[in-house]
Amino acid sequence: MANTAPLFTTYSRTPLRFERGEGVWLFDEKGARYLDFAAGIAVNSLGHAHPHLVAALTGQAQKLWHLSNLYEIPGQERLAERLVAATFADSVFFTNSGAEALECAIKTARRHFYVNGQPERVRIITMEGAFHGRTLATIAAGGQAKYLEGFGPKAVGFDQVPFGDIEALTAALDDTAAAVLIEPVQGEGGIRPLDPDVLRQIRALCDDHGVLLILDEVQSGIGRTGRLFAHEWAGITPDLMAIAKGIGGGFPLGACLATDAAADGMTPGTHGTTFGGNPLAMAVGNAVLDVVLADGFLDQVQTTGNALSQGLLSLKERYPGLIADIRGTGLMLGIRCVGNNGEMVQAFRNESLLTVPAGDNVVRLLPPLTVTAEEARDALRRMEAALEMIAPMAKTN
Ligand SMILES: *Cc1c(COP(=O)(O)O)cnc(C)c1O
Repeated sequence: MANTAPLFTTYSRTPLRFERGEGVWLFDEKGARYLDFAAGIAVNSLGHAHPHLVAALTGQAQKLWHLSNLYEIPGQERLAERLVAATFADSVFFTNSGAEALECAIKTARRHFYVNGQPERVRIITMEGAFHGRTLATIAAGGQAKYLEGFGPKAVGFDQVPFGDIEALTAALDDTAAAVLIEPVQGEGGIRPLDPDVLRQIRALCDDHGVLLILDEVQSGIGRTGRLFAHEWAGITPDLMAIAKGIGGGFPLGACLATDAAADGMTPGTHGTTFGGNPLAMAVGNAVLDVVLADGFLDQVQTTGNALSQGLLSLKERYPGLIADIRGTGLMLGIRCVGNNGEMVQAFRNESLLTVPAGDNVVRLLPPLTVTAEEARDALRRMEAALEMIAPMAKTN
């Protein structure tokens, strides 16, 4: 039955209505329990209703909700100091979403060349399969026809090269290029990790051509791959980085991180936001870091991720007619399907396990980073039961 609620019909929603959550579990209106390996698409990094986040948010709610960026906001200073201490960055601009964090990174890159006497350097080079958000600039950056169609002329200054194609990238880096913008692991594109060696080559290319490197770690950041940021696996650092999703743990929060050199054009009045850096968001962001930066937390993500990945590989061996490939790192894992990925998501949902479809016929597993080994085994058992259900159907196709 079609839902006739007065909402834009932009989402094809699954008819499930959740009422509350606890850790990796979601409970629907009838009290039925689902294992949440979607986590709001890598947003609920610490699961649902994490006591430390609840305390941080409600504590702040009793003091002060909103302040204009006309005033100093101590929560912003503290969160920025901690992000700077933990990364390549020298400074941070807070936003409400991933797309806004990317808009800030793109503006910062162009403005850098503008103030350094190279205003013609405006082009941003991205990779096929990318996803950078749904604003007019970020759909141009993502370059996907299905997101651009019907929304007027594509914003100028965005060009794409095939995924991981160093030769094409080199050719694209002429003296009108400002930045290379990439996801170290494509999320919506289907958990496609860029080879660490290729990432190192891209960093070197950017240096050789005087071009900035912008990383989109909106999905892969904040511990998702078992390091604080996915680019750490390659041992490189970017000039600019967009983050969001996991840093807010479910509260809308994004950020653009920059080196001082890259952000030299972002002088007073050049950029702004009403809600970005709101005290409620800052309280939650700081609380998320309390947990993620605690000793041993990221090691635990790696351990649980490895166990989950091993379990998936053995499912792949047993169901070669259903699973083509397992990919990803930490708790950012993908199952590339032989058949339709939507059907596999549905089969998992029938076992009360929530996952997310992605490009390249992939089912994404993005559980809360707090998932335990036992909960991971529970998910594997549910997946096995689902695969057992659809295996006979796959054979007759
Ligand atoms: C989700 C996502 C975005 C967009 O974030 P919004 O908060 O939806 O604007 C951008 N880049 C990547 C890699 C993402 O996963």
